Amino acid sequence: MPTELVMTHEAVPGFFGRLIDEGPVMGPRERARQPGFHHFDWLDSADDLVLEYQTTTIPPKKAFFPPRDVLFEFDLTDPPEFRAVRDATPFTLVGVHPCDLEGLRLLDDAYAQEPAEACWPANRARARIIGVDCTPDEYCFCTSVGSCHSRAACDLFLTPIERGRLVEVLTGAGEEMLRVSDVTEASDEDHAQAQQWRDDKEAAVTAGLDASPAEFADLLATGDFTDIWHEISSRCYSCGSCNTTCPTCFCFDINDEFDLGLTGGRRVRTWDSCQLAEFALVAGGHNFRRLRWQRVKHRWHRKFDYLYREFGTPYCTGCGRCSRACTADINIVDVSNQIIEAARQGVQG
Ligand code: SF4
Ligand code: SF4
Repeated sequence: MPTELVMTHEAVPGFFGRLIDEGPVMGPRERARQPGFHHFDWLDSADDLVLEYQTTTIPPKKAFFPPRDVLFEFDLTDPPEFRAVRDATPFTLVGVHPCDLEGLRLLDDAYAQEPAEACWPANRARARIIGVDCTPDEYCFCTSVGSCHSRAACDLFLTPIERGRLVEVLTGAGEEMLRVSDVTEASDEDHAQAQQWRDDKEAAVTAGLDASPAEFADLLATGDFTDIWHEISSRCYSCGSCNTTCPTCFCFDINDEFDLGLTGGRRVRTWDSCQLAEFALVAGGHNFRRLRWQRVKHRWHRKFDYLYREFGTPYCTGCGRCSRACTADINIVDVSNQIIEAARQGVQG
């Protein structure tokens, strides 16, 4: 391992159909009310699966970290009773792009920090993952942050070739998934076509940061760039869409919901966003980032500075989701390059 095999176009539906017959499979499918747009969802049949799709709005992290997650239920008896409601069913996540594979890897690291978070690794252990290669659009900048050819976190990875898909077998779980599948050895020609696909993909990435992640982290720390943050934040609505669509954002809030009779309820975890006005509001009414420009600045430092220094990699996979989602047209590449240029010119304030 890794081994490379070929699955022909004719064999692909049968392979995914068998996986769906064996257990739950989540993958990209077309939105019922938005033809041409795709989302990760549970698949009823192989016909639902779309392997060639433009990046989804919500990343596949939702398979392991749902937007709303019931952690446990409770009864207010004396003593109180707690009931675990965690789903332990194994499932398969398919059709994950390289940038999103990298996003899963980054969340593996983030949630493993002490005190380690328990739900993410438990959910990750339930899943087998199949990655697929993709075609960039004008928002993608994976080549700037090292995620363009990521194979992190996946068991099988599929690359389009003339006669079907080149299948990289990356783990024993991947080998197991192929056990009764119609696959053959890859020829030199198959390898060459897959490499050509990767080269073409890289060449098709048109957006990019004007500095390496290491240099950008250093440049961000050279000044406050307050004028730039003021200008960007004057357009920002503090809607939080840039966070909720991000494959590497991992913040959440926890609330207890009580039944109407006040005899019990459930503890619920929901996605949170550092761009929302109340995110840094603490007891006593103090808000550590009350002003919008402070929150906008925080997002950039979080992605490219603080977490870069902690993990040695930017917490951005170059997926472009935040730029696509922003109704104020705040583009992460444009703003980053504005900062890079200002820092190189010695702008401090
Ligand atoms: S999506 Fe755009 S408008 Fe909304 S919080 Fe993010 S930067 Fe601001
Ligand atoms: S910050 Fe934006 S481009 Fe980077 S990973 Fe998050 S959504 Fe994707």
